Amino acid sequence: IERDALLRKKYNIHVSGNNVPSPVQNFADLSSRYQCDSYLLHNLAELGFKEPTPIQRQAIPILLSGRECFACAPTGSGKTFAFVCPMLMKLKHSSTDGIRAVILCPTRELAAQTTRECKKLAKGNKFYIKLMTKELARKADFSKRPCDVLISTPLRLCFAIRKRKLDLSRVEYLVLDESDKLFELGLVKQIDSVVKACSNPSIIRSLFSATLPDFVEELARTIMHDAVRVIIGRKNS
Ligand code: ADP
Ligand code: MG
Repeated sequence: IERDALLRKKYNIHVSGNNVPSPVQNFADLSSRYQCDSYLLHNLAELGFKEPTPIQRQAIPILLSGRECFACAPTGSGKTFAFVCPMLMKLKHSSTDGIRAVILCPTRELAAQTTRECKKLAKGNKFYIKLMTKELARKADFSKRPCDVLISTPLRLCFAIRKRKLDLSRVEYLVLDESDKLFELGLVKQIDSVVKACSNPSIIRSLFSATLPDFVEELARTIMHDAVRVIIGRKNS
């Protein structure tokens, strides 16, 4: 407990919530504490990641413990890996169980970039990672193709839910990335229908953002259960 407090102090990690899991000291902790597969550690080394960033130190163990979380850390501080790493670790390997994880991004560019990052980290493990393109939203029959991780903007995903009767009832992980922007863009209704469509009662939701305006925090609290709040540095810097 004392050690957790010291680590958090050292990395400027502020947490609130019940029973917050200990931050990791290094990437090796992911193997010793959470049996991280070697492909992932190999990819980290390949990418030149030597040690976890502050948000990764704290958000990864929270999500691996099956807790929901909302996290606020500056731009460029490694938030993508903070949610992709635990997601890939929990999914373990590809399956034909329908769509298992959804990442919502505010823009098409960010969705495409997140897809590339996700694929880099998944290299060597045959996951089906799909970017929701216009084409896919219009035509794809997702019930007929494997999809472990689907990355989309709220608009395209909602379009596909309506038109293609996209089934999100088995989604185990839902991430709202850059959630401040998602909400600012007036996408509350779309996000709401995605949250509703992801009806699996044991879903783990998380929200990542560079700032955490009060209204985003309030919205987050209405959809999450026993969530942990993580802030790196100050709340809205
Ligand atoms: P954010 O979403 O917080 O703005 P990103 O996830 O896009 O930040 O990461 C910013 C950059 O930092 C990316 O180029 C990413 O590859 C790199 N990065 C992420 N985690 C680490 C790490 N642990 N060590 C070194 N570089 C990292
Ligand atoms: Mg980001």
